[in-house]
Amino acid sequence: MSAVAVILAAGVLALLAVAMGHVLGWANRRFHVAVDPKVEALLAVLPGANCGGCGFVGCAEYAEAVARGEAEVSLCAPGGAAAAMELADIMGVEVAESLPYRAVVHCSAHTDQRLQRAAYRGAPTCAAVNLVAGVQGCTYGCLGFGDCERACNYDAIRVTDGLSNVNYDRCVGCGACARVCPRNIITLAPFKSDRMLVVACSNHDTAADVRAVCMVGCLGCRACTRIAPELISVDGALPEINYDVYDPSDQALVKVLEKCPRKRLTFVGKPTEKDLAAVADKELPEEIQADFKTTVDDTEWWG
Ligand code: SF4
Ligand code: SF4
Repeated sequence: MSAVAVILAAGVLALLAVAMGHVLGWANRRFHVAVDPKVEALLAVLPGANCGGCGFVGCAEYAEAVARGEAEVSLCAPGGAAAAMELADIMGVEVAESLPYRAVVHCSAHTDQRLQRAAYRGAPTCAAVNLVAGVQGCTYGCLGFGDCERACNYDAIRVTDGLSNVNYDRCVGCGACARVCPRNIITLAPFKSDRMLVVACSNHDTAADVRAVCMVGCLGCRACTRIAPELISVDGALPEINYDVYDPSDQALVKVLEKCPRKRLTFVGKPTEKDLAAVADKELPEEIQADFKTTVDDTEWWG
């Protein structure tokens, strides 16, 4: 190739580069979407988990809603109180002190404690099993195929021996597990202390029906509500805890645990030093302990 051709080619390329630069500059000005600096500041505070726990599609949409004044600053569970304070600072609003919410699984039956089980050979997901009648007698309890485990971005819930367990060192209360559970047995409870009283059963049926399908399910005997009527009410045949009046240091809690014949009122989370001192002379109540030897892949349902 001659020197003239090389110079011509370089000139054409240079002209093209200048022209493209102008086109890109024009496009940038023409299609520029102004981002509210407040939204950018809010977004920088959020953890970027995009878990949807705030009720918005992701962190960006939540930040925009906060900036417009259409969402509370305390809705980001993974960010917790620290993020809420920073968002409030940016927005110039007060943030009410909020309790951390954590996932609670309202079932405590392991595989061999569930009765009337039948073989299941379909897709190994809770959503699929839930569509099949008669896989297990209890139509309320955990199905044990780990849809919650797969939904959790924090490795905070795992299925062991057919029952999901929450790791309270990791759970941030985003609610992703609760949203996917087809049995609706995961709720988010306000944790007033590291250790919380919960009802570890979801079966609303009568005692006879519960006994027929589960070796550990709540019988609805009302022993708990007789001891602590303000704290525990019985809806149908299942106790409900009123967390508005829940006091972690209330000694009545120990009596409630002792009286429950099925031990379905139980503590989750971690006992504090104070908790341990309060029951030092008593046998410690049963707790749901997270055990991370997951058995999701080899759970068997062969009756
Ligand atoms: S267990 Fe996982 S998915 Fe469920 S609330 Fe906690 S962090 Fe979120
Ligand atoms: S708690 Fe988890 S494993 Fe149990 S039924 Fe719900 S999604 Fe499935």
